[in-house]
Amino acid sequence: MTTEMYLLAVLLALLLGLAVGKGWERYKLRDGRWIDRRRLRETPHYMLGLNFLVDGQVDQAIEELTHAASTDTDALEIQMILGNLYREKGQVGRAVNVHQLLLQRPDLTKLEHAYVLLCLGLDFRHGGFVDRALEAFQEVLQLDPRNRYALVNLQKLYEDQHQWGEALRLREQIAKIDSGLRQNDRQILGFLRNEIGSAQERTGDAAGAARTFAGAIDVDARTVPAYLNLGDVRERQGNLPGAVEAWERLIEAVPDHAYFAFDRLERAYRTLGTPHRFVDLCGRLIERDPPGWRPRLALARHLGAAGQHRAAFDRLLDALPHHPHGLAIHQQVWETLAALGFDAGLIRHYVELTREAVFYLDPHVCRRCRYRSTELLWQCPQCHEWNTFVEERIARAKDTAGATDAVSS
Ligand SMILES: [Zn+2]
Repeated sequence: MTTEMYLLAVLLALLLGLAVGKGWERYKLRDGRWIDRRRLRETPHYMLGLNFLVDGQVDQAIEELTHAASTDTDALEIQMILGNLYREKGQVGRAVNVHQLLLQRPDLTKLEHAYVLLCLGLDFRHGGFVDRALEAFQEVLQLDPRNRYALVNLQKLYEDQHQWGEALRLREQIAKIDSGLRQNDRQILGFLRNEIGSAQERTGDAAGAARTFAGAIDVDARTVPAYLNLGDVRERQGNLPGAVEAWERLIEAVPDHAYFAFDRLERAYRTLGTPHRFVDLCGRLIERDPPGWRPRLALARHLGAAGQHRAAFDRLLDALPHHPHGLAIHQQVWETLAALGFDAGLIRHYVELTREAVFYLDPHVCRRCRYRSTELLWQCPQCHEWNTFVEERIARAKDTAGATDAVSS
């Protein structure tokens, strides 16, 4: 065979292969009949359904996709989406039916099988069938051990059951998949270890709890409750200086959440006979972060408790411009004014300063789902994410006179 003929043969084979491939892509043998797979995309229902889906119009999306599915009953992805839409609408039974029917198909690839099981697991989780959800996600992992979505859902299920050890094991697997500890993994591992420590403490294992809390801090130095808990354990063990060390370490490591340690430290310093250390601490924090209102409020409370009401009042008036909507500051102002016999001059001064303030009592918001809470929560009760709460402050917009909602981060 000459080289030219050889090349021609190769070219012909290639073209033939392409033609067969195209045909295969377009037609599919089903029940002994050739089906044109392009038909699906030619029905308006498929396109309309997808558009409604993107637009968040679930009912219309279901209607159109149901039409499309009746055109091509073989289309796995449409059935899968339909099932998921039923789940989103709260029709869990229907979603389970759709996904279970898909599982009975004999021609599923391993990947398709895993994805249908994943959908089924989400249906069960949504419906509160914990055991069946666990089973479904575990089956997904048998088919696809690195399925991050299944791992995350399993972790969340164990968290819901307060099985922190299992949740931690899963998060460690996820961290491995993420190759190199991401900050997010680190943070969740820290919080989970902290929960394990709290559980150990409840069973009376103080020494073990202390080690676990310290481990949580080692994994992620920003695990605020681990410092608080470590100090609390040490205090209960009679080691108050050790407790102070843990709480002071929190202030160094996470200065924006220093105030969580204020009450504990103030009490401990007083017990140790060194109350001035609290005044020094607040002074250092104010110097380090001048707009910080919490050290000023804490200092005012401390001074008030010592009978120094006039000095306390000045600290509070310093704090107010930095957080004019903080109800805690206003309440402390009125307590201080009462202690000072409602001095008319001081009241006028205060009213001048707060003329523009708007009051509200829920100053924390989840960055992920906007859930509001008066307290800063470490795990959101609505979306179950860790460490997503930020203080919400209402601030005046820079260029307009109207007040605007702003989330500080
Ligand atoms: Zn949330």
